[in-house]
Amino acid sequence: MSKIKDRLSKFQDIIRGSNDHHATQEVTLVAVSKTKPEEDLMEAYETGHRDFGENKIQEMTTKSESLPKDIRWHMIGHTQRNKVKYMAPYVHLIHSVDSPRLLKEINKQAAKNDRVIDCLLQVHIAEESSKYGFDEQELIQLMEDELFKEYQHVQIKGLMGMATFTDDEEQVRKEFKSLKAMFDRVKDRGLLDRRHDFTELSMGMTGDYEIALEEGSTMLRIGSAIFGARD
Ligand SMILES: *Cc1c(COP(=O)(O)O)cnc(C)c1O
Repeated sequence: MSKIKDRLSKFQDIIRGSNDHHATQEVTLVAVSKTKPEEDLMEAYETGHRDFGENKIQEMTTKSESLPKDIRWHMIGHTQRNKVKYMAPYVHLIHSVDSPRLLKEINKQAAKNDRVIDCLLQVHIAEESSKYGFDEQELIQLMEDELFKEYQHVQIKGLMGMATFTDDEEQVRKEFKSLKAMFDRVKDRGLLDRRHDFTELSMGMTGDYEIALEEGSTMLRIGSAIFGARD
């Protein structure tokens, strides 16, 4: 078996094991293929894998044009509003919605394409100030906003967060716990009308997926542990 297939099947086993433990909700594996050539994606595709994550719209769009149409494309990177139109026709889930203005643009471009685009709101949980995202107050403000309630072309499926890049496991665990707690509070407040199906918590990458699963992740975004280190 090739390395990519090997590593992918290891993750599929981990996820299957985790799905057995927490029977309430399935965990989705997003294979993060940014910077990797199309052959690498096809290797994963041939095992039956369909969920791929990219962090640049240009690169994702080029790949989506030449690769099979049943791939589910996940946008996981910070997005400029003027580029949303390129992915609006096909993107499966945008994990990285980090401002009200971006959400407004996604709603607009989704309408043009006669679609409802699934979105996660990115929350700033890390210590680094460079990471993008909402805080809890801003999330609540957004959901209470009358303008937001009129957006018929986006569905808010949940939250996404990135922990601090550190070896300190307790720090990472604390941040994931805080994201899960925020997720539960937002859900309990009932600010979203029911069509939003607020169920997904995207957290966990190569370095911290084990902790993320223990803390309630429903979506892992794994790059280097599947495709190898990036340049
Ligand atoms: C690159 C990236 C990942 C995957 O990172 P790995 O450490 O290679 O697993 C996950 N999430 C986001 C937002 C990324 O940009």
